[in-house]
Amino acid sequence: MPELPEVEAVRRGLARHLTGRTVERVEVLDPRPLRRQEGGPQAFSRGLSGRRITGAVRRGKLLWLPLDDGRALAAHLGMSGQLLVRGTVASPPPEAERRAVTDASADGADLTAQRPPSLVRDLSVHPRHLRVRLHLVARPGDAPGGAALDLVDQRMLGGMRLSALVPTPDGGPGGEGSAEPGVPAEATHIARDLLDPLLDRQAVQERAGRSARAVKTLLLDQGLVSGVGNIYADEGLWAARVHGSRPGSGIGPAGLGELLDRTAQVMTRALAVGGTSFDALYVDAEGAAGYFARELAAYGRAGRPCRRCGTALRTERLAGRSHTFCPRCQVPARPTSARR
Ligand SMILES: [Zn+2]
Repeated sequence: MPELPEVEAVRRGLARHLTGRTVERVEVLDPRPLRRQEGGPQAFSRGLSGRRITGAVRRGKLLWLPLDDGRALAAHLGMSGQLLVRGTVASPPPEAERRAVTDASADGADLTAQRPPSLVRDLSVHPRHLRVRLHLVARPGDAPGGAALDLVDQRMLGGMRLSALVPTPDGGPGGEGSAEPGVPAEATHIARDLLDPLLDRQAVQERAGRSARAVKTLLLDQGLVSGVGNIYADEGLWAARVHGSRPGSGIGPAGLGELLDRTAQVMTRALAVGGTSFDALYVDAEGAAGYFARELAAYGRAGRPCRRCGTALRTERLAGRSHTFCPRCQVPARPTSARR
């Protein structure tokens, strides 16, 4: 499941390739990804044709393309969804994004994560699992076959939907990539994410610090703070030396502040190298896989030595998810056998 860094890598690519482009027509090869669209595929096609895409915006793990009619094309990538551009020419990345990539590639990479990232560049005209294609109005420099945005989804868990933009509760910008204070109607329950400068960190720490819920469950609660999924929760908890089963109230606001800082740092480093890819399912908008898998310290490394102390990492079930941790650096509040 793509988390904040992976979705942000996709967003940046889409912004560079699609901002200012107009949708000519929509080709629906499989209607299932449009199941949440009111009016079905016909309404989706009619609503998008002739509309200009004004940018690409992200809040947490949700991505949307604002349109010139005040609505937005919201995309849920699910487990296996990919948005791929083809035939377009990208504008150069902003200065800040270029510098981040250069800094990250200078790091010595640790290669002990189990599976190497793969590089995927399937630029054939009809990829397998192509579900929906947005043909773009031609522009000089496009490939001879035309320019398009494709939704490719192997397992059919992602989807797209045309959605009204509604005002943000705090009046601030909807998310990364736009100054407009609007979010898609289905995203109003999604809190600001951990890398959003407008996130009220104090409020998050206070709410979580009063909670009896497990701190990993709190980190994954998109209504409290968004963008964190299982990978970066495990990484942040390892970095902050906190076992995920400890209650928020047992860690306290200061400890939670440290945990949020560490988790944000891990996601920032992951973003600098394009996110984490374990297989061909997550790629950015240009089809390139991320390289952060080789830097993971906890997630996917059960049985491997802790990068700090050498103890073998362990995995437990926690609220239905796996939690990989170091039994020496990350001590549960109570012995495992005594926990509910
Ligand atoms: Zn350790």
